[in-house]
Amino acid sequence: MMRQFLKPVLKSASLLALGAALSACVPAKTAIDPAAVAMEERAIEARAFLKDAESQIAAKSHQAAQAAWDQATNITPETTAAAAEQGAEFTKLLVSLANASKQFDIKELPAEEARKIQILRSGITIPAPSREGAAEELAGITTKLDATYSTGKFMFQGREIDLLEASRIIEQSRNPAELQAVWEGWHSIAAPMAPDYARMVEIANEGARELGYPSLDQMWLSNYDMKPAEMEAEVQRLWTQVEPLYKELHCYARGRLNTYYGDAVQPATGPIRADLLGNMWAQQWSGVYDILKTDTPGPAYDLTTRLNEQGYTPLKMVQTGEAFFTSLGLQELPKTFWERSMITKPEGREVVCHASAWDLDDYEDVRIKMCTQVNAEDFNTVHHELGHNYYQLAYRNQDHLYKNGAHDGFHEAIGDFVALSITPEYLEQLGLITAAEKPGPDADTALLLQTALDKIAFLPFALSVDSWRWGVLSGDTPPEAYNQSWTDIRLKNQGIIPPAPRPADAFDPGAKYHIPGNTPYLRYFLSFIMQFQFHKAACEQAGWEGPLHRCSIYGNKEVGRRFEEMMEAGMSQPWPDTLEKFTGTREMDGSAIIEYFDPLMVYLKEENAGQSCGW
Ligand SMILES: [Zn+2]
Repeated sequence: MMRQFLKPVLKSASLLALGAALSACVPAKTAIDPAAVAMEERAIEARAFLKDAESQIAAKSHQAAQAAWDQATNITPETTAAAAEQGAEFTKLLVSLANASKQFDIKELPAEEARKIQILRSGITIPAPSREGAAEELAGITTKLDATYSTGKFMFQGREIDLLEASRIIEQSRNPAELQAVWEGWHSIAAPMAPDYARMVEIANEGARELGYPSLDQMWLSNYDMKPAEMEAEVQRLWTQVEPLYKELHCYARGRLNTYYGDAVQPATGPIRADLLGNMWAQQWSGVYDILKTDTPGPAYDLTTRLNEQGYTPLKMVQTGEAFFTSLGLQELPKTFWERSMITKPEGREVVCHASAWDLDDYEDVRIKMCTQVNAEDFNTVHHELGHNYYQLAYRNQDHLYKNGAHDGFHEAIGDFVALSITPEYLEQLGLITAAEKPGPDADTALLLQTALDKIAFLPFALSVDSWRWGVLSGDTPPEAYNQSWTDIRLKNQGIIPPAPRPADAFDPGAKYHIPGNTPYLRYFLSFIMQFQFHKAACEQAGWEGPLHRCSIYGNKEVGRRFEEMMEAGMSQPWPDTLEKFTGTREMDGSAIIEYFDPLMVYLKEENAGQSCGW
């Protein structure tokens, strides 16, 4: 689910030209005030600096993105070395420009230039210090971590298996001993990463300090148009809004697992065993829907089965995803998308299967990279990844530094927001189910549970990943406490525990892609909140009056127009401005989630009556 941060290309001089024209008018009005003249001179210098910086970044990021793509779609020692080299050069350039930008005091610049310089300084995910050799060492470590994860394999029942197969077993096996072995096996691939990870933290923090941040976590939290501490408080506020729903879901799931497996495997009280929830990281639980399903009637079809019965291929799934976006009035994907994307896992070479969306030239060379399977989960993932590509295409005419999401949560939310419109009504429109099969309102509880197992179960997981990382990056969690902290945070937020005590050398966070892959995770938490907020706003725009979970915006061109307008703004203005234009509010808000799942909440509370919930 990641998006490459590498920000490739485009020379759009329109805003810069406009800025220069405006500044030329100023001295005529206020020529007498020397302070104003000095300030205007600084603004002109900053503009020139930024124009040059943007064109340098654009050129270099092309090369780095191409090398990263070549590596991700064909992992060899050569491609890995080339990606590391290009990555190092790109990081060096970003760091040198960020350092050079220190010649300007943000407080003395007009809003536009101040914003761009702020983006330049805080936008490097893993900054290397500028001293000799640091960027190379850092790039070497990050590329190695990524490759260790992506090629990770372990022995299971006498043969070597990879993550794809391990995930299938975790989802499909109902044998607790087998589940435990696979869970422990996959987590064992991460143990060797720990020393490299600790060294990487050291170097990246040195880089963050050089850029004026106390540590890298503070730098990451500086990307939200507010102070880091305020953003942390925002995250807590949002979690508080949705936590009661998660607690009911946890209580309910634990009860069902206890009934299915018995006390010896899953006790009726306390935390849930992490390997029993159908997903390697217990981040989404729909894999064990058969155990967790409600007593109420559910839909009479299974989407995965239907997709296969109707001959869907990975390609057809992606085409169907595109058709949703074009139904909203958005453009077709460029021809090169279809020629250059990696839609299925190729034979005979190692690739990074973790799904991602790319924008190689920052203009139109958008692609996805997936090892797509024909199933309901990947049907959603396809929409998710295409959401990134459509966002990239929408803001392609912005200046280089503004070619990004309003904040990173927006980028992740776009495709998921669209996928919330994959309702039974929509499936009927596609011909995947018949009118007679379309479930009535009595199936709502079951449908909502399916969604909640993915969307609500995910929230405390997402929160945990960066809570752990903020502790690590700030230095509060030293290397010897890495694993215990991970286990503790997951217990506190998610209410889950490993199937058995962990070995002393365990580095369980490394078994989740975004840790060795260095992708900040707060974006996913924000996205899972905001996608419902977008959905509610879009359904209101469409004049929808039924329950939120039955609303589909498929084919609605007016909603599509406003949606595209939101995306076109990119990062050119503070995100509350962008949010307000589409939703009418300037704050992120979890109340749409509560409204969406209200019928489920009623059901869960009834089912949980008399239980002592919590852990
Ligand atoms: Zn994503």
